[in-house]
Amino acid sequence: MAKDTPQTFYLKDYTPFGYDVESVHLTFRLSPETTRVLSKIRFAPKADAADKTFFLHGEDLQLISAKIDGQEVAPEVTDKGLSCDVPGAPFTWEAEVEINPAGNTALEGLYMSNRMYCTQCEAEGFRKITYYPDRPDVMSTFTVRIEGDEPVMLSNGNPMGHGEGWAEWHDPWPKPAYLFALVAGDLVNHPGQFTTKSGKVVELNIWVRPGPDEGKCAFGMEALKKSMTWDEEVYGLEYDLELFNIVAVDDFNMGAMENKGLNIFNSSCVLASPETSTDANFERIEAIIAHEYFHNWTGNRITCRDWFQLCLKEGLTVFRDAQFTSDMRSEPVKRIEDVITLRARQFPEDGGPLAHPPRPEEFQEINNFYTATVYEKGAEVIGMLKRLVGDENYYKALKLYFERHDGQACTIEDWLQVFEDATGRDLQQFKLWYSQAGTPRVKVSEEYADGTYTLTLEQSTPPTPGQPDKAPRVIPMAVGLLSPNGDEVRATEVLELTEAKQSFTFDGLAAKPVPSILREFSAPVILERDTTNAERAFLLAHDTDPFNRWEAGNALAKEVRLAMVLDGAAPDGAYLDALEKLVRDDDQDPAFRALVLSPPSQADIAQTLFERGYTPDPQKIYDAAETFTQTLAQQLETSLPRLYAATTVEGPYAPDADSAGKRALNGRILSLLTRLDGGEQAARQYAAADNMTQQYTALAALMKAEKGDAQSQAFFDQWNDDRLVMDKWFALQIACAAPQKTAATAAALTNHALFDMKNPNRFRAVFGALAGNHAGFHHASGEAYALLAENLIALDKLNPQTTARMCAAFQTWKRYDAGRQSLIRARMSRIAGAPGLSRDTNEMITRILDA
Ligand SMILES: [Zn+2]
Repeated sequence: MAKDTPQTFYLKDYTPFGYDVESVHLTFRLSPETTRVLSKIRFAPKADAADKTFFLHGEDLQLISAKIDGQEVAPEVTDKGLSCDVPGAPFTWEAEVEINPAGNTALEGLYMSNRMYCTQCEAEGFRKITYYPDRPDVMSTFTVRIEGDEPVMLSNGNPMGHGEGWAEWHDPWPKPAYLFALVAGDLVNHPGQFTTKSGKVVELNIWVRPGPDEGKCAFGMEALKKSMTWDEEVYGLEYDLELFNIVAVDDFNMGAMENKGLNIFNSSCVLASPETSTDANFERIEAIIAHEYFHNWTGNRITCRDWFQLCLKEGLTVFRDAQFTSDMRSEPVKRIEDVITLRARQFPEDGGPLAHPPRPEEFQEINNFYTATVYEKGAEVIGMLKRLVGDENYYKALKLYFERHDGQACTIEDWLQVFEDATGRDLQQFKLWYSQAGTPRVKVSEEYADGTYTLTLEQSTPPTPGQPDKAPRVIPMAVGLLSPNGDEVRATEVLELTEAKQSFTFDGLAAKPVPSILREFSAPVILERDTTNAERAFLLAHDTDPFNRWEAGNALAKEVRLAMVLDGAAPDGAYLDALEKLVRDDDQDPAFRALVLSPPSQADIAQTLFERGYTPDPQKIYDAAETFTQTLAQQLETSLPRLYAATTVEGPYAPDADSAGKRALNGRILSLLTRLDGGEQAARQYAAADNMTQQYTALAALMKAEKGDAQSQAFFDQWNDDRLVMDKWFALQIACAAPQKTAATAAALTNHALFDMKNPNRFRAVFGALAGNHAGFHHASGEAYALLAENLIALDKLNPQTTARMCAAFQTWKRYDAGRQSLIRARMSRIAGAPGLSRDTNEMITRILDA
């Protein structure tokens, strides 16, 4: 059977829908396998519309009846939607369709999770609920009636009434269909209340299934209130409904969804308790609750004209949630964490076959563009813009954005126009960040003579798919200068690199300075500069910019490890001394010390080798990491017990940033100590732990040392009825496995009674950990490639969206040697040839293979 030729959508083809949607009334008659959806929609032809085609999207729907102004009609129906002859004046469209929520394993549209009805409509899930112009620029008010015997039945907006077997909702804010939500089930609420700055009282709820989850809502509720306060104080933005609901759902493709007034969360991103969540979980939950709440303005009140503009709402909202986390916790620590994530997720994407600009110009399946480039690089672009125009101008422009575009569906052009109007600055060249893919390289050279220091910066961006040549961009380079004795002689200033090659001079210096370049990581670029390890050690000790202090240590760690991999060198003694000095320095922030003590990931070393023209050998990278950590442990041997004791957090658990930073350092020290004491201290910590952070850290240290069998069993016995904790248990075994055992460990876990292919969290726990264990995934046997490929083929039949995303594990294949490349190519070809492959997965595999 021939596959259909996939359709490609282009930004340049945008045309507005020919009709206004004046109102939408929906009635749901819930039944697990035969839900009826009745729609009553008022359409009005637009006088100025060039294209008056009446086409409504619809997929996997059984059309029962259709009427226009009360008269039965017979529309032409395909598997993509329907078209129909319609009057030239305003008219009422009515349709009744039947859908099967229980059979919906793709988790798009209306589906069932754990006996609860829930929805996911972004990006194009609403078309699986009823026939509708399912595009973000079509906005309307929604009135929803839900009929069924579920105790709780929720939709967007404000409640209009409810009775035995029914509930009605009305959302007064016009919205696109992707923000529609419905939830029905046996749920209980954790209530809260918030008074806005203008004195409006908002009722808040976090809804969960009755049982243990009820005790895991308090932290999320506090995070929500903090987010509401922060958005009022920093951006002047207030909430606009009487009610804000959050629902926790176990089976969810994404992290969370900002549906108007009814956010739906993957339970892993909202439920928290000290006993079941780590410090990292708490920080992430706080950030995601903020992110979804902030979307109420940046995404919902002002939405995207079309899905090519996705980074308009996501880049800005990720930027806003990062600002929030910096304010709630530590600004430098948050920046360092974000850069680690950017380099781990976005740089490989930008440097490989999936590279695309933050605003792509074509796609086959929009679900495949919820990427690190759209989100994280999209946020970096906003950060650069703020740095270039300054804080005051940034907030002035944002104020204008909310005034000018409230209630509209906008484009990147609208966004940049606001900045041009507010600041008078020409942003044509800056706009290239939105249209050019690839990570720019900035090559640095320097000269010093007669008190004048000259810094020459040269930019270039390697070719990416469809973009062989790139024009120079505007790159804000934050630079400071230090004197040889470690004093700062020039405070941070932002150099604007706008040409391919440009020089900047600094006069009146007493001696040749040491430059601190790209402070705060002021642009998402790769810096290329010939420098010495001695200078990196100097910056690690003296730089006044905390990000660049960490960066110097990180670069030093990388050079040491690269020398070990390439030349078989021993770990550099001077670096070990510098680390020892820092880790013992109690004046330094524990969170910062923990970050400096965390070595660059093995994938990062592989990426760097590749960037420098070498073929990375995963096993050698693994061996170097092991040797380095063992040597470091031995170097610190005499201080480790004291450091462990000094950083142990006593007393009841609290998830605040200071305690979490201390526990992070304590955890790093425990993992080093475990290499020397045979796991004694870790076993004691495991036995005594009264919170998940300490329990998990001890278990991880023991499992890494292959001494954790008893504790792993105990952990399973304690937590096997908690799905989220079990995800950790599945992932940890694979993450800690030695390279030659990784694939077998993962394979065994897929046969475990608690492995559930239909639950995206569990699938990601196993296969995300497999792809994340660099040496194990890329073991020369190819077993891990085969295991992942076979499971992706199986998952594609159930859940194309999650399958397609997981294909990205193969995106770096061209980095490796011919043997590994041919193993991966064979596995990808098997996926590509699988009968009935989804459009999502087909697009991803084709892009990766064609590179
Ligand atoms: Zn978002």
